[in-house]
Amino acid sequence: MAAALFRKSKYSTISGIRTEPPAPHHAGLTAEPLKKKEIPEGLWEKCKKCEEIIYTKTREENLNLCPRCSYHYPMTAQQRIALLTDEGSFKEIDADIESVDTLKFEGVASYTDKLAASKKKTGLTDAVICGHAKLNGIRYALGVMDFRFLGASMGAVVGEKITRLIEFATAKRLPLLVVTASGGARMYEGMISLMQMAKTSGALERHQEAGLPYIVIMTHPTTAGVTASFASLGDLIVAEPDALIGFAGPRVIKDTTQANLPEGFQTSEFLLKKGLIDRIIDRRNLRAEISLCLEYFTSRANSKGSQKKEAAK
Ligand SMILES: [Zn+2]
Repeated sequence: MAAALFRKSKYSTISGIRTEPPAPHHAGLTAEPLKKKEIPEGLWEKCKKCEEIIYTKTREENLNLCPRCSYHYPMTAQQRIALLTDEGSFKEIDADIESVDTLKFEGVASYTDKLAASKKKTGLTDAVICGHAKLNGIRYALGVMDFRFLGASMGAVVGEKITRLIEFATAKRLPLLVVTASGGARMYEGMISLMQMAKTSGALERHQEAGLPYIVIMTHPTTAGVTASFASLGDLIVAEPDALIGFAGPRVIKDTTQANLPEGFQTSEFLLKKGLIDRIIDRRNLRAEISLCLEYFTSRANSKGSQKKEAAK
């Protein structure tokens, strides 16, 4: 990654501007300490996992990993696409489908207002971007969810875009990869959001019948209706470290079952042991490993195809 190649030296030579601020506990010892009003908002933060004070920009330039403990912070859909595709190869499909407020949902804010705010914040039209791209020269269909857009909840548009992506992959005989993140069904759309589970699952069944591979990357957090449908149906299901993966939240389960939940319940590490997922991949290795999987799956599909042709002769 470009960010990794250009590791900044501690001090810049340009106009003597410091490119990386001093560690906070040394802040008082520098010759020219930054004046408080010059420090932009969000420069430093406390890591959610190791609780170290880290420099936000260092994290962002490090694939959004904590520079101390490698905690995997969420990535935007755009960053994910850059991570998992050859540069400039991604072609978006169905970019123009947008959600409508069928139920005229009113709450603290109306659904229409929430949609408008999410579009403005993310630059996306809904919680998933779909398209096709190449990775190491292998073309594949790719869908990436973005948690910033209404918690990547699945409404009619997310369901429809995922379904069309699957159907596109089946028709073009491409391997399919979906990067999931979701808070579940989109409550603003009621029942309509729930039927997306059946719709996406049905399309995947046809993709499988066509002998085509489907890979899922579960990221933090992947929950509820998305876990209960296309996120759990991969031929290969991988997850990022420390990701929360589950159907109902721990509190609901605890209240319902009246039992104490085991430690680390609903993390990718726990679910790997239980067999729900196949592999945990560190984000720094994700591109290389997915590339290998695509290569393996496509060469298998090709050799199967040629075997069939041989048999037909
Ligand atoms: Zn950390």
